[in-house]
Amino acid sequence: MTRKIVIPFIPGDGIGPEIMVASRLAIDAAIEESSDGSTELVWKELDAGDASFKKSREWLPSETLSAIKEHGIALKGPLTTPVGSGIRSLNVAIRQALDLYANVRPVRYFKGVSSPVREPQKMNMVIFRENTEDVYKGIEWKSGSQEAAAVISLLKNLGASVREDSAVGIKPISEHASKRLVRAAIKYAIRHGLPSVTLVHKGNIMKFTEGAFRDWGYELAKAEFPGQTVIESESASGRLDVRGKVIIKDRIADNMFQQILTRPEEYSVLATPNLNGDYLSDACAAQVGGLGVAPGANIGESVAVFESVHGTAPKYAGRDIANPCSLMLSGAMMLEHLGLDSAASALVRGIEATLAEGIMTQDLARLAHDVSPVGTSVFAVEVIRRLR
Ligand code: NAD
Repeated sequence: MTRKIVIPFIPGDGIGPEIMVASRLAIDAAIEESSDGSTELVWKELDAGDASFKKSREWLPSETLSAIKEHGIALKGPLTTPVGSGIRSLNVAIRQALDLYANVRPVRYFKGVSSPVREPQKMNMVIFRENTEDVYKGIEWKSGSQEAAAVISLLKNLGASVREDSAVGIKPISEHASKRLVRAAIKYAIRHGLPSVTLVHKGNIMKFTEGAFRDWGYELAKAEFPGQTVIESESASGRLDVRGKVIIKDRIADNMFQQILTRPEEYSVLATPNLNGDYLSDACAAQVGGLGVAPGANIGESVAVFESVHGTAPKYAGRDIANPCSLMLSGAMMLEHLGLDSAASALVRGIEATLAEGIMTQDLARLAHDVSPVGTSVFAVEVIRRLR
């Protein structure tokens, strides 16, 4: 009997619908190739963004969120941030409504893609970025506002002097959110047999927020994964048996930016608070050829949304020239999340082989030597031909 898995999907705005069609075709073909008809995806389209607003005057209908909750999964194209609607970002709204606390961004090099560094193949990292706290909380007050004055006065009472014309922002980092993020990163490293998890923080300056993130991370590793992890500083003596264990280490954020360039091969999974992870994930993606080939997911306890990392690229919309790799690779992450590992590998193999042969869309082709670009739909067909 064929196992049917319902996959809710949001095509998205701008180039979203085109890259979604290309990605769904490639995902279905990867399943067919690897499961001999035993598994089938049933795609269920959901409304959100521009198209939804035109249809129902709602940017993010509640039915869309309930369907994602019900099925525990979704594939999502890019969504326009509505200007002047009172919504900060639909992407942020989805993450908050579904408590998708971990932003997961695997970054690796694909042969054939032009990169600004000499040895891009040394980069193979998965970044787990905390998705709900830190600057993402958006707690800040304008300079000169009553609220800013009230906070400044409270701070004065607490012994902190802040200039009266300051704008004020608050950066909360909790034990609960830090630990669940680090837990997800360690579980991922164990499941994938990866050698280390690095806690990236700025704890030398912000001891009680970023420093606490590091301390809670180590605490969690010791308490919940004692047999499967080892702390780097404790293993340095050489007396601990580190074989088969995930090494937990930490690096200060500014140092980490140097490490991704100078020693990328020494890192595999990174766990970071929100802002560090925001900067780091784009910097890592730039090293392997940019956002066009970087997939992403937002994961919570029981729901996961897989999405292209880039935006709606409106100037390319409707022209069949956008690069579908980011969404296709997010689709591969989704297949892996569903336990369909061989379909995920087939899809990644297809993309690898296509790019390695110099078959790519214009955004990548213009940076490569002597490569004529193909369109979105031709790229999908070429990937499908190479799944075997
Ligand atoms: P963008 O990612 O859409 O574009 C940045 C640059 O990259 C542009 O030159 C664009 O043409 C190019 N580009 C992006 N994706 C591409 C692809 N797949 N193939 C080829 N070229 C590609 O970022 P932006 O211009 O800052 O934002 C446009 C809209 O997208 C805004 O409304 C923004 O809020 C939204 N946005 C959404 C998401 C999301 O849904 N996750 C992420 C970022 C931006």
